[in-house]
Formats: sequence, structure tokens, C-alpha cells
Amino acid sequence: MNPNFLVFAAPDIQEEEIAEVEACLRSGWLGTGPRVKRFEADFAAYKGVAPNQVAGVNSCTAAMHVSMVAAGLEPGSEVITTPLTFCATVNAILHAGLTPVLADVEADTQNIDPDAIEAAITPRTRAILPVHFAGRPCNMDRIMAIARKHDLMVIEDCAHAIETEYRGRKAGTFGDFGCFSFYVTKNVVTGEGGMVLSRDPAKSARARMLALHGMSQDAWHRFSDEGYKHYQVVECGFKYNMMDMQAAIGIHQLARVEAAWKKREAAWACYMDRLGGLAVGLPAAFEPDTRHALHLFTILVDPREAGLSRDGFLDGMNSLGIGTGVHYQSIPEHRYYQERFGWRPEQWPRAMAIGRSTVSLPLSPKLSESDLDRVVRGVQSLVKRRD
Ligand SMILES: *Cc1c(COP(=O)(O)O)cnc(C)c1O
Repeated sequence: MNPNFLVFAAPDIQEEEIAEVEACLRSGWLGTGPRVKRFEADFAAYKGVAPNQVAGVNSCTAAMHVSMVAAGLEPGSEVITTPLTFCATVNAILHAGLTPVLADVEADTQNIDPDAIEAAITPRTRAILPVHFAGRPCNMDRIMAIARKHDLMVIEDCAHAIETEYRGRKAGTFGDFGCFSFYVTKNVVTGEGGMVLSRDPAKSARARMLALHGMSQDAWHRFSDEGYKHYQVVECGFKYNMMDMQAAIGIHQLARVEAAWKKREAAWACYMDRLGGLAVGLPAAFEPDTRHALHLFTILVDPREAGLSRDGFLDGMNSLGIGTGVHYQSIPEHRYYQERFGWRPEQWPRAMAIGRSTVSLPLSPKLSESDLDRVVRGVQSLVKRRD
């Protein structure tokens, strides 16, 4: 690979993480153990909840899957979610034996539209699964009011939303469950990793148990120096537990979560300032009394204005050695969902339009000023100015 290639969303790994992983390896305890416990406690403290309200798992996909199993919804129940999300959101609904129903997004916030949620409710609806897209909080006042009115569970996909707040409250603490990702591109990285947060400690205990085969004790408790303990399998669970090697990275990533946010805030401000005169769509202003997690900086490239297609823009950036992303082609653009559900992208026109024109620019805390300058000049060289 070209050594000057600017990798999209490169993780910022520092010496603390490296030393902790080494210490973990030397300790001989690689699996779920004391470092996972510490990472869970740190994460709970960051979210302002009790340690028994969270459970570390090996991905956000796993977190959403066990949440929906722990929610105890009858098979075939409908779960309303957004078409502008990663496939994992919809696949987790399907793996839990539930039926996804899509509700279109708002054109400006790109988050699920509460009016579209209401329009999608049927007698079989049991849950809403909002995604705080790019780190911008969904309209949780309206979503929670709809959930209360129709007696629906809420499972928040917080893969982009570790730092997100809405009216003074942290993302993931509104619904019955909040599901977080520590995948390599996310705001806190463990390689692969995730966290389930639940308002109800009994639900998070069930999610934790489901994440380890449905066993009544975790391995740490079985094999630690407290002596061997028998376990009972009390449910048919999954193999989704987080390991200490992952938590070793996460502990130090989480300790720097605010510092990393500030670096991305500076990058965001630079993009807003320097891309303002170009014929591309920029992110909407932040809603009052909210905090955006600044996970993705997305622009909209409309060929009628920008002078080139979105895919032409992606190719152009790539040939300038700048990595970009697409978040996301709308869910019904994918063949699997078209064939299984007969979905067509045109049924959710706002998500379709965004998915066909969106581009994510690099927004890693590792970006230097000269990296940012390179990205800005790259965009300037490819798209027209507004007249
Ligand atoms: C990354 C992502 C996921 C999946 O997270 P994993 O930890 O990789 O399973 C789910 N939803 C959204 C919106 C994501 O961006």
C-alpha cells in the first residue's frame, strides 16, 4: 500500500494500550476476566449507570442480538428501524427471530423520522430500534413518547454514539437497551468489541448470560482462585463474550474518549469552515441541547451541483491517496433484503437519496493539520464551487 495513503478512520493506538495488552498476555489471562470487569466499570461510570447495568460483548451486532433475545419479544414481532444503517442492525433483528420494518429518515438530520415511525406501526409492532446516525442523537423525546403510547421496547443502536447526549441525557440510557461498538473505526476501539447497557439490571444480567452460552457463571468465576464452581446452562445462549485482550485496549481508549472527541471537533470545524463554499451538502447544524459524538463527517455529492458523481468523487479521492467511506447505501439497495422482503429503495426515498450521494471524509483523532489540509484541498480540486 502507498505509505502516503490516508486511511479512513485510522485508530489512534498509543503506548498505554500496547503496554496493557502486553501485561494482559504476560498475566496468562486472555479471556473474560479482570480487565473486562474494569472496562465495564469504566464504561458504566462514563455513562453514569451502575456497573451491573452493562455487559461487555464482542461486537455491537452481538449486543443488539442478545438485547433483542433478552427483550423476550414473541417471534415475528415487528421492529421498526432506519433504512440508513449498517446491515448489522437489520441482521440482528432477523437473527433474533423478529421482523424488520423500515421507517424513512429525516432529510436534514439523516436520523429516523418519528412521523415515519408512527406511520409504520401495526398491531404486530413491539419495538423501535433507532440508530444515532453519525453520532447525532435521534429525536428521543418523540421516540420515547411513541414507545410509551404504543407500549413498545426501545433498543438504541449507539455504534456511532458513545459520546452522544440528548437534553442532558446520554445515548443508550433512554431505551430498554443501548448497544455500543468498539470496532476499529469507532470512537472507542478494542479491535472487535461491544457493550450492552440496560436500564434494568435484570435485563443486563440476562444479556450477559446469553452472551456466554446461557451459562449461570462466567469462566472467570469458574476457574479463578476462588475454587472451581459448577455452572448450569439455563438458556441456549451464544458465544459473544468480550475477552481481556480486547478490554486491555478499551480501558485506555475510553480514558482518552474526551480528548479524542476534542480533536475530531477541531477537524469538524475545519471542514465546516473550508468546505462551505463548495457545491456539496454539509452536515446539518447541531440541535440545541444535544451533543453530537462526531463519529462521521458526511457530505452529499449531487452530480447536478458538484459537477461529478458520488462514485466519481470516491474514485477521485482514492487516486489522491485519501480514504473515504459510504455510510450507507440504504438497506433496500442490497439484494438479500430485496429478495427476502421485496423491498425497493424507492419506498424510502430520503434514505435512498442520501445513500446514493453520501461520502464520509476522514475524521480520526490521528489526523494532523496537514492531513486535514490534504483532504480539504482534495475535495476542492474535485467539486465545483457554489455560484
Ligand atoms: C459498526 C456498526 C454496527 C456494528 O458494530 P460491530 O461492533 O461491528 O458489530 C452496527 N450499527 C451501526 C450503525 C454501525 O455503524
